[in-house]
Amino acid sequence: MERLDLDMVILNASELLTLKGASHTPKLREDLNELGIIENGGVAIRGNQILAVDTTKNIKRLVKPGSRPRIIDAKNQTVMPGLIDPHTHLAFAGSREREFVQKIKGATYMEILESGGGINVTVKATRKASKNTLVRLGKPTLNRMLEYGTTTVEGKSGYGLEPKHEYKQLFAMRDLNLIHPIDIVPTFMGAHVIPTKYKEQPEKYMDLIIDKMIPSVSKRGLAEFCDVFAEEGIFDIDQSRRILLAGKKHGLTPKVHADEMTTFGGAELAAEVGAASADHLLKVSKQGIRALAKKQVVAVLLPATALVLMEKEYAPARDLIKSGVPVALATDYNPNCMTESMQLVMTLACLNMRMTPAEAISASTINAAHAIARAHLVGSLEPNKQADIVIMNVPNHSHIPYHFGVNHVNKVIKAGKLAYSAQ
Ligand SMILES: [Zn+2]
Repeated sequence: MERLDLDMVILNASELLTLKGASHTPKLREDLNELGIIENGGVAIRGNQILAVDTTKNIKRLVKPGSRPRIIDAKNQTVMPGLIDPHTHLAFAGSREREFVQKIKGATYMEILESGGGINVTVKATRKASKNTLVRLGKPTLNRMLEYGTTTVEGKSGYGLEPKHEYKQLFAMRDLNLIHPIDIVPTFMGAHVIPTKYKEQPEKYMDLIIDKMIPSVSKRGLAEFCDVFAEEGIFDIDQSRRILLAGKKHGLTPKVHADEMTTFGGAELAAEVGAASADHLLKVSKQGIRALAKKQVVAVLLPATALVLMEKEYAPARDLIKSGVPVALATDYNPNCMTESMQLVMTLACLNMRMTPAEAISASTINAAHAIARAHLVGSLEPNKQADIVIMNVPNHSHIPYHFGVNHVNKVIKAGKLAYSAQ
């Protein structure tokens, strides 16, 4: 056996969740329950890469005599891939706790929006903030995400709604990506809502997105994806299609906020334009589910949003899984859904969408990586993948969603380096 010069070894994990074998295509149906568990497992790391994943006994044998890798003892703990949060609205200013109270008293999202509240409050605050302010505000958010086990996050613009302010949000994410251990995958979402100024002439705002913002975002390399909020009273299907196709023409892969509040055809549109993901899907139709399955569009489900909207019906995770749609989970972190915790999202997925703990974990790791085109790099613990690893202070994976409202993370390793430790 070849002995290796290693920088770090993790040993004695009571359960090591590899999530192996799904880097090319996402996990579907029953396979979502297969976590590739190694009992008493270990990981061998060199530089930023995983070299081997095996039993502790075999990992110990790999270490070259005389070499001194850093040893991390994961006794009685669960070791798993870093969590991936494939849908957030990072880099905004202001907060909306007042609206939280309005909501409790019975106002709906649309009522709050129409009364000049909601997203417009965040747009105003974000426009006022400088890029450096957005960076300063984003840092503690990313720190909390890291502490809760997230190692890769997608972030959307969409609180600027004017060229310079949309670019500012994307530049802020670029800066955050450079200074913070978490990897940020940027999405342009100028089509978050029609800004107040263009309420009477939405076509003018459409032109601004299609003719100015998309080409400019693409030229400057500020985003990989282009997202649109396809919803009654926001962007209709025809407008959404035009925006997504314009993005695609400029190299931005489509994503869709689909069928969140009404059955609107957003899932069908996502399938039609070859989107990487269709997100929300609380009101997705049967045809919509079939279309997502056929085109293997990842359904990114956001149960924390359903929680804050106090929805009775969550997204139909069981129907989606049964139909062969790849399912992922995300926080939807934004001023209306203030949580950075993928652990909480997993609990909500289990209790309100009846996903098993194993399904929720697959959906928060390898399938989440597929939703943002990172599955070749992260989302599972396999040789040659980036060493993004979370050590949870729980004896087995079911404890993660079962024991909720607390943080189980003991250590986070990002690209081979210890990025967070609870002790
Ligand atoms: Zn969103």
